[in-house]
Amino acid sequence: MAHLTAEIISIGDEMTSGSRLDTNTAWISRRLAELGVEVHFHSTVGDTLSHNIDVFRIAVQRADLVVATGGLGPTRDDLTREAIAESLGMPLQFDADSFARIEAMFTRRGRQMPERNRRQAMFPRGANPILNPQGTAPGVDVVATRPDGSTSRIFALPGVPAEMTRMFDDSVAPAILSIAEGGKHIRNSVMKFFGLGESDMEQRLGEMISRQRQPRVGITVSAATISLRISALADSVAECEAMIATTHQEIMQRVGDLYFGDGETFEQQHAVDAQLRDRNERLCVIELGHAAPLGDWFAALGDSPVLAGGLSLVGNAELRHFAGLDTSDATHQDCVQKIGERFTADWMVVVDAYPDLNRLKNDVTPASDVTFSVGHPDGRLTSQTENIGGHPSIVHARIAKAALQYLRQCLAEATCR
Ligand code: ATP
Ligand code: MG
Repeated sequence: MAHLTAEIISIGDEMTSGSRLDTNTAWISRRLAELGVEVHFHSTVGDTLSHNIDVFRIAVQRADLVVATGGLGPTRDDLTREAIAESLGMPLQFDADSFARIEAMFTRRGRQMPERNRRQAMFPRGANPILNPQGTAPGVDVVATRPDGSTSRIFALPGVPAEMTRMFDDSVAPAILSIAEGGKHIRNSVMKFFGLGESDMEQRLGEMISRQRQPRVGITVSAATISLRISALADSVAECEAMIATTHQEIMQRVGDLYFGDGETFEQQHAVDAQLRDRNERLCVIELGHAAPLGDWFAALGDSPVLAGGLSLVGNAELRHFAGLDTSDATHQDCVQKIGERFTADWMVVVDAYPDLNRLKNDVTPASDVTFSVGHPDGRLTSQTENIGGHPSIVHARIAKAALQYLRQCLAEATCR
């Protein structure tokens, strides 16, 4: 297998000035990794022609593939076509087919094409247009030849993320696969885990995460949830799927105890929701402190019958008041039991408590004890205390996810009995 290297170029003053985050480069990097391409450089450049020419000249010297985004629009600050043409030493030429397609796009939208959009039909000599089904700007696909005769392939795409991702998947990825693998297929699958750190996960997976492995297994972490992405490359889709199934099993053998489901957007609340639907049972959530993510997550499940209700209370005084027990010497447990009775739910999960992050800003939240209580269908209330801290941007989510993990554990025990 030819091992390809890549450079990604992001073009626009909005990126160099910091007013817009460059999400295109991160997205393309992940896709290229799945295709087995090693990304060696990320370059970001503003809307200045000479700087763009420099960046393209350097990129084609040091990478087999150059994927650029931005600067293909019709306005005068959109200079990518000129920059590529100049860096290759090729003139820009008018492409009648692309022009007809741009005109047709305007006609479909019931608009007259402004004269300046003609620029978007100009391509460096030898280039092929990349079809843009969603916008006016076609991409540019062109081969650069180095002084020693070796080559580098440039793919320039529009900056608009939705157009860029579609064009990458439709046109760029197949082109790269045919350079690298002679027309192979690629399939991906994502497995989700909660309950251990990234380095522990790496350790338990051992050689499975080697870059040389086929299918490849990649780890990403988002607010303490770990995703393992399996990418299989093979001669047929069926072969890819068979390889993914085998790897899925191997991963389950190693870290199956922490697995909760499949899919990029699948979270623990989806797993709980599915289990409770199966059992025909309902859940209520009580969250104390300065956040209520569980209520939010379960409410976002939409038409699911599982959520019986949610309650967010700042402190224990509010809890006692809500339970109607503020005059007695009722315990936290008594209050929670009392409130639980008001919801017609089989299960209850209580989080005590989410810390106040207002005074922390960017510091790490010191770890503190958080108690999760679960009310079971048989009336028992069990609890577990964990010491949880972390960056303020994720600490609330981490607490809520740990609570869900405890709830899933209780559900699993109930299912076994
Ligand atoms: P258009 O035909 O829409 O003008 P274009 O190729 O000229 O396409 P830009 O004008 O550079 O693209 O950017 C279009 C939009 O995409 C802008 O809102 C811009 O902020 C956004 N964008 C550009 N580059 C990126 C990037 N690297 N990451 C995220 N968003 C981006
Ligand atoms: Mg721009």
